[in-house]
Formats: sequence, structure tokens, C-alpha cells
Amino acid sequence: MKVKFLTLYPEIFPGFLGYSVTGKALSDGKWSFETVNIRDYAFDKYGSVDDTPCGGGAGMVMRADVLGAAIKANYTSGKLIYMSPRGKPLTQEKVHQLANEPEFTIICGRFEGVDQRVLEAYEAEEISIGDYVLTGGEQAAMIMLDSIIRLLPDVLGNSQSYQDESFENSLLEYPQYTRPIEWEGRTVPEVLLSGHHKNIENWRKEQSLKITKENRPDLLKKYLDLQKV
Ligand code: SAM
Repeated sequence: MKVKFLTLYPEIFPGFLGYSVTGKALSDGKWSFETVNIRDYAFDKYGSVDDTPCGGGAGMVMRADVLGAAIKANYTSGKLIYMSPRGKPLTQEKVHQLANEPEFTIICGRFEGVDQRVLEAYEAEEISIGDYVLTGGEQAAMIMLDSIIRLLPDVLGNSQSYQDESFENSLLEYPQYTRPIEWEGRTVPEVLLSGHHKNIENWRKEQSLKITKENRPDLLKKYLDLQKV
């Protein structure tokens, strides 16, 4: 998988993507990246990339001519994504779809965002990583990629690793335990030590349902609706 980050802060990358599972996948060649400094496409001697919003209001907006020139010179094929709090939410289902894509060009916004005309001209897909506002798209892009890279073939050691995880079947994951069996007066639930696979599976399912009901009733509803189909 090839990724191009269009950014004002190329030095941020690969950041935390260079560590652990995603870092190993990078050194194994499962994915590669390059950065494009949007400022390199500025026209004036000051390297200006932003200007005041038409119609007034707070902050600055990334200029259509500068960002447009950066996209034109660097976007050739694959998916063009603009990280944006206004975008469609990134869900685990969406992450699975994106994990099938071979090539991404990702626009990382700053300031109050980017001139709308560029997004329309290049038909960029807007994706949000959650209902909150970050200072920049770089963080959002890295979080999105982290979730995608771990799903690439042979990246996680055991292909089962993600299949029981939160969101995979619209439920949140059951509680996990490891050694020591006793810790500060607390013991691991007995069923997990029983070796009885069916009972363990049933217990985990009950716990998943309980946690999902408490924390994400919206997901539980989705799960129950799916069971009816
Ligand atoms: N004025 C924008 C708004 O209200 O929607 C927020 C701009 S934000 C301060 C600057 C940049 O951070 C955005 O252009 C976007 O690239 C990125 N960003 C912020 N929050 C994000 C989120 N939840 N998901 C994805 N990208 C986000």
C-alpha cells in the first residue's frame, strides 16, 4: 500500500506509525509513504499557503491555488482523501474497505480548513476520525492509517487477532485477563481458567453484550437488528 501525505508538516511522518506493528509493516515493505510539503507550491516569496476567509470570520483558510497546485503535481491515481471533522465517520467497517485500496493521497488540513473548491475539483472524499476538532489533519491521517495497516495481510501475527475485537461484529470486546491469576486480592474469573471452551465463549459473549449495552446502546441496537436479518 502506497501513501502520499500532503502536509505543511512533513517532518511529523511517520511519527508513531514508525513503531511497533505499523513500524514493522513499514520496514517489511507492506506499506510505504512519501510526504509532499504543500508550502513548496506557494507562489509568493513568503511561502504563503493561507488567507482570510471570504465573508469574514475567525482564522485562516488554506488557499485553493496553492493546495490545488500541490494536488495537481502529486495526485496521479488511487484514493484522494481529505481528513476533516465534517467528513463521514471512520468506522471499523470503513477501515476494512480502505484496507483493500492500494494507493492513498491524503490532504492534511490546518487552520480553519481548506478552500472548498479544491475538494470539489478533485472530488476528495472527506473522512472524520471522530466528533471533536483537532489542530491538524496529520494526526487524523496517522490514526486512520494505523487502523488500516493492522488489517493488511500478514501484518498482525495471528490472523485471528482482530476478529474478536471491538466493532468487528458490532459489539465491544469482552474483558481480557492474563497472569498473575491473583493480583492484589482480585482473581481472574473462574470460567476463564476452566479450559471449557464453550463456557468461555458464552461468558465472553455475555460480557460483550453487557459492555456494549452500557457504553454503546447504539451499537447494541445495530447488532440486534443484524441478528433479525
Ligand atoms: N474549521 C474546521 C471545522 O470546524 O470543521 C476545523 C479545522 S481543524 C482546526 C484543522 C484541520 O484539522 C482540518 O482541516 C482537518 O484536516 C483536521 N481535523 C480536525 N479535526 C478532525 C477530525 N475530527 N477528523 C479528521 N480531521 C480533522
